[in-house]
Amino acid sequence: MIVTITLNPAVDTCYYVSSFLLGETNRSDQYVKTAGGKGLNVSKVLKQLGADVIATGFLGGTTGQFIAEEVQKKSIISRFTQCKEDTRNCIAIIDQAGQHTEMLERGPKITEEEAKKFFQDLTELYKLREIQAIVASGSIPAGLGKDYYCHLIREAKFRKIPFILDTSGDALKEAIQAEPYLIKPNISEVASLLEREIRTEREVLLALQDEKLRIIPNIVISLGAGGAMARCDKEIYKVIIPTIEVKSPVGSGDAMVAGMAYEITKKSTNEQVLRVGTTCGILNAMHVETGYIDIEKFNMLYKEVQIIRL
Ligand code: ADP
Repeated sequence: MIVTITLNPAVDTCYYVSSFLLGETNRSDQYVKTAGGKGLNVSKVLKQLGADVIATGFLGGTTGQFIAEEVQKKSIISRFTQCKEDTRNCIAIIDQAGQHTEMLERGPKITEEEAKKFFQDLTELYKLREIQAIVASGSIPAGLGKDYYCHLIREAKFRKIPFILDTSGDALKEAIQAEPYLIKPNISEVASLLEREIRTEREVLLALQDEKLRIIPNIVISLGAGGAMARCDKEIYKVIIPTIEVKSPVGSGDAMVAGMAYEITKKSTNEQVLRVGTTCGILNAMHVETGYIDIEKFNMLYKEVQIIRL
């Protein structure tokens, strides 16, 4: 059983238009509304892999209700904590030229009481013997403090449950002090964490071995179409991936995290964790839908992913 944490989920609405005109009324006959947020993408992929998942986080208002229903439709168990303010809406507009315009709401401000309730709810789950891993993804909503993940990580460490974290900016900077079991920044997230440019393979390698990150047992730096590089304890790995026809890489990092979390609960080798994670990332990029993997193609792609120990 894997617990996912989405502190700031969103109702993602994607509008398809022939052209998008600023300052005009734009109409769309084609739009899709989905339950979004990085942790929810992770939950969806975990479910497709056959894992048992409990999705947690904050939900509020009718937007929150929409997410709760969508999660239920996918047969994912949910233990969300209610918040007073509405869960956010995130809007994407895609025109025929493929131009992408986004409008992201900040999301609800979480009160001290709600934060306490969430912590209580989550630590009750931590106590369950079936919980084998915790995955936290995405940003921290207003009201919670940049170090909020630290509390959740420390509690998991105390209970010896691996805590997998996929976040960025200050939330990541703060969280590494609490030593999560695994982090998965992409190249720009790790560059911002270490406050320097990272472009070449050598620079990625140096980042994996950076003094600041030494306390983290597992670091996977995902490189989009370039695969990934990782340090698991003292071993360094390079992940080489096949060339595919990309439909949308949005959510590939989340799919990768889901695959790795699933293998971690099976106590698989580092190579296996990286290979399954990478395969899920690639499979997500092969579809327009975020957090969807075509499981039928899994075995074929899995064989094409190469893991090299450097
Ligand atoms: P994030 O979504 O966090 O930025 P990445 O874009 O690095 O993460 O993607 C995570 C993984 O998904 C990559 O390591 C790779 O395996 C796969 N992936 C992402 N984009 C592509 C792509 N364009 N082609 C093939 N695989 C991809």
